[in-house]
Amino acid sequence: MIEFDNSYARLPAACFERVDPTPVKAPELIKLNTALAQELGLDAQWLASEEGVNMLAGNALPESSQALAMAYAGHQFGNWVPQLGDGRAILLGEVVDANNHRFDIQLKGAGRTPFSRGGDGRNWMGPVLREYLVSEAMAALGVPTTRALAATATGEFVLRESGPMPGAIVTRVARSHVRVGTFQYFAARGDQESLTALVDHVIERQYPSLTEADNKALSLLEAVIDAQASLVAHWQSIGFIHGVMNTDNCSVSGHTIDYGPCAFMDTYQADKLFSSIDRGARYAYQNQPRIAQWNLVNLAQCLLPMMHEDQEKSVELAQAAINRFDEIFVHHYSQRMRAKLGLNNAQDNDLALAANLLKRMEDEQLDFTQTFTQLSYPDALSPFAAGGALHDWHLSWQQRLGNDSAQAEQSRLLMQQVNPIVIPRNHLIEAFIERAVADNDVSDFHAMLDVVTTPFDEKHIGSLYATPPQPEERVTQTFCGT
Ligand code: AMP
Ligand code: MG
Repeated sequence: MIEFDNSYARLPAACFERVDPTPVKAPELIKLNTALAQELGLDAQWLASEEGVNMLAGNALPESSQALAMAYAGHQFGNWVPQLGDGRAILLGEVVDANNHRFDIQLKGAGRTPFSRGGDGRNWMGPVLREYLVSEAMAALGVPTTRALAATATGEFVLRESGPMPGAIVTRVARSHVRVGTFQYFAARGDQESLTALVDHVIERQYPSLTEADNKALSLLEAVIDAQASLVAHWQSIGFIHGVMNTDNCSVSGHTIDYGPCAFMDTYQADKLFSSIDRGARYAYQNQPRIAQWNLVNLAQCLLPMMHEDQEKSVELAQAAINRFDEIFVHHYSQRMRAKLGLNNAQDNDLALAANLLKRMEDEQLDFTQTFTQLSYPDALSPFAAGGALHDWHLSWQQRLGNDSAQAEQSRLLMQQVNPIVIPRNHLIEAFIERAVADNDVSDFHAMLDVVTTPFDEKHIGSLYATPPQPEERVTQTFCGT
């Protein structure tokens, strides 16, 4: 049994709508994340039991659950939408782990809510398996992210453009589901009471050191700026493209949230874009830092009235905080890239050295992940070796290494700890989804999950999972698929 607490349900009534999941026909567990259950102090055996699976499918909730859909608004591709909200996700409640960290337990695909608009509130196998695998891979890569506790088949079909698809639910675990769009929802309505409660809620949950801050709103903004800058720097360092960085998908805790048309790039390309719905290429790889800052400007806007009684002064304070984003991002990004190059101490030209490598990778159409593996595990066939396309860059890098405080062995270890050998490659994701849907066979999903959750393990070098797609296997577009 799970004992939920419900701190979100204690916020002002405007913050959510109470709603229970809609029961499904024949729930069946596809995958339970027993390691995560243990981390959260949950009873994995109970979760896998009939009673547990009934909860994961939304068929029967423990008494302690006060299920609800959260209200939020957002800018979608830059366009203001005053009401979005959880249209296919239902928060069951929160659990508190041994470190006193609070986690939301949410069912995504659990049926209609007052925010569903025209949608069915459901999810299908493809996006569920994708979110499960990619979010768990991100966690294993050390990137702050929502987690997946379970994937559950519903035994029902959902109708999508491509026809009827097998329904499924992902149980999402998050440090918080509060987004920039949550603040926007109340700011747009002039609901100062809910805004104030939300600021206190987020600080208490995510940023407890700010509880006594003189200017809570400003301190919160600064903390979110740092968390988002750090997050996006991490994304850039592994070639992750979120795909829908709308303000409603931008978490104030600085975690990756809402795995839709996201993808890792194979061949390095600065303006790489996968999402089929992003016609203006707004959320292309190289735009991600700029977009994060754009989202933070919107958060700042919501917090202005709480920053200072003098409006002009508020704007000044917020603008100064926003203006520091670039510097903070570059700081985090430089740290990540330096580690990828095995550099221990900072020197002036490090970013240029990294940029140079990326430029060369782009010119030579090299695979992003594999190239860093080759740098971390020297081999005679790599583009860095004598006669290889990147040999000249390699010489400049060696020269820089010679001036570093780290010894060669130390450098290599550092690189091997931060340069993944496997990332969840899109063509393999599409292949296991295809198999799950067409043959009702999820064994490829399980096999790939084992590999992408141990991304730094040397044994994967040269494996299928570490190999870039052949030209005919390349996935050029991803779909929201909801
Ligand atoms: P997303 O693009 O996944 O971040 O979702 C944007 C908005 O659409 C959110 O308010 C979702 O709750 C809503 N939404 C997406 N898919 C569905 C669906 N199948 N049923 C109801 N609402 C949905
Ligand atoms: Mg969303």
